[in-house]
Amino acid sequence: MAKSKINDFRKTRKKNPNAKIPYYKKPYVTVDKQSYQIMGNTLIIGVRPGRPYVGIPLNDYTVSQFADPHIKIGAITITRNTISISISKETQSITPTEFVGIDTNLNNISTVHSDGHVDVFSDVAKITKIKQKYRKVKSHFRRNDVRIGKKIFQKYGTKQQHKTKQTLHNISKKLVTQKKQLILEDLKGIRKLYQKGNGQGTKYRSRLNGWPFYEFKRQLEYKSKWYNGIPVIKIKPNKTSSKCSICGAKVIPEENRQIRCHCGHREDRDINAARNILYKGVPVVQLRGLRLRPDAPQGEAMKQSKDAKQIVTSQINLQ
Ligand SMILES: [Zn+2]
Repeated sequence: MAKSKINDFRKTRKKNPNAKIPYYKKPYVTVDKQSYQIMGNTLIIGVRPGRPYVGIPLNDYTVSQFADPHIKIGAITITRNTISISISKETQSITPTEFVGIDTNLNNISTVHSDGHVDVFSDVAKITKIKQKYRKVKSHFRRNDVRIGKKIFQKYGTKQQHKTKQTLHNISKKLVTQKKQLILEDLKGIRKLYQKGNGQGTKYRSRLNGWPFYEFKRQLEYKSKWYNGIPVIKIKPNKTSSKCSICGAKVIPEENRQIRCHCGHREDRDINAARNILYKGVPVVQLRGLRLRPDAPQGEAMKQSKDAKQIVTSQINLQ
């Protein structure tokens, strides 16, 4: 790539002697399949024909990935600090029989499964709180501390990013290993929604911007495809947290993050949202065919309406 840039530059310079000299922003090298080899736990890269090669030791985890005969190894990208080996495989697609609605909010990741199971991951609150604190401390640096502050925070930031990623990896892995159809809200433009001047406090906004929605979504998407061959279903985030998951009416917020509805439904508001996401993502026909617990009590909604969707939702038991 650099070579072609330089060639271009040479041509342009003939016409325009003042042409800008090209420069690199991020140095990196791509090594194609023919130019490297993996022997045992060493990655061997040929630099020039007839010259000694570079050997890079690989860790056990990386080596174990290549042991899978279905995995094909592609090109390698080398940057200043990293080596990325791209791998691909053909996945046998699973037809999921169970579904999971996933609500990502500032305090937790709430999930409602079509078999009635509910799981709440609350490690998320820690992530946003730490990030908020970090921002606050950063804002208190005086002008002449800026350089030192930057250094400290760069170090802290990288560490924090690793931790955050790890936390999210644990959650996404747990969700994916269940081999269910995952349903998420499409969070395109969430940052735009929470900009200054639309009624939300600075604190709230800063916590929201600290939530790594994109990273979590990215992990779920690639893992679900990679392990199960199931793409995630993305639904429009429309009123999922403000309407009752049983009857669809507007809910009344109560204390302790609870909601209540005139139909009698009472629930944690995040679980109610996850339930809405689940029902939105699963077509009614499929919902009807879901495995239901025969011992589940009849809900209020069943008495109120004969709509198939509502009858089924009332039979899906929480515990
Ligand atoms: Zn209701």
